[in-house]
Amino acid sequence: MSACLLGEKVRYDGSDRRLPWLTEILSGHCGLQSICPEVEAGLGVPRPPVRLLREPTGEIRVRGVDDPSLDVTDRLQDACRSLLDRFEGVDGVILKSRSPSCAVDDAPCPGPGDGEGRCPGLFARMCRQRYPDLPLIDERGLASEAGKVGFLIQVFRYRCRRLRPSADPAGWPLPGKA
Ligand code: SF4
Repeated sequence: MSACLLGEKVRYDGSDRRLPWLTEILSGHCGLQSICPEVEAGLGVPRPPVRLLREPTGEIRVRGVDDPSLDVTDRLQDACRSLLDRFEGVDGVILKSRSPSCAVDDAPCPGPGDGEGRCPGLFARMCRQRYPDLPLIDERGLASEAGKVGFLIQVFRYRCRRLRPSADPAGWPLPGKA
């Protein structure tokens, strides 16, 4: 889980975005592990806010909002890699929307001459590349009961497949392959 969704005050301004459903309901049924890629990268709290920027070459970098010469891409990539190295036993990931690190698909990502643009945050992109079948969602996707139930079914199926692949004769579909 994005640590800020679990109520940890790790956002750039020292605030959190606690999602009560995680801390009051889901925590009673699942082991929840918090991650904050930006803290893992040693950027500190508070820290200068960063955002994604598409370079003229098409490459996406993570740069300071107030000072675009601040480029934390490499540090953040190393931190994400390190977090993903410790993902053994993880059956689902819940991330904060709109974050340059955590957003599943809606981080603002302006580029030269192409307006705002949206794309995944760096951690979410690397997570998808490394674990393409791992259920991944942001807190907006959990806003409805249907969203919550659908995600939990994906997590359950993933866990069953991971723990007992041979006990799945019906070939339960993995997320996105239903
Ligand atoms: S990097 Fe992710 S976990 Fe950390 S504060 Fe930003 S959205 Fe929250």
